[in-house]
Amino acid sequence: MPTFKCKDIGMDCPFETSAKTEDELMMKIAEHASKAHDIKTVPPELMAKIKKAIKK
Ligand SMILES: [Zn+2]
Repeated sequence: MPTFKCKDIGMDCPFETSAKTEDELMMKIAEHASKAHDIKTVPPELMAKIKKAIKK
């Protein structure tokens, strides 16, 4: 199951999440980024970091 931890991209944040698919996981991450980090649109370089940090 794909899993993401916010601290793996260098954030001082205990958030972690998992989902059945990577697409679903990306949606959860985008929602968290918006609510918790005020990142309304994830820039491409951050997206690349997130993808690398996802444990499959
Ligand atoms: Zn976070």
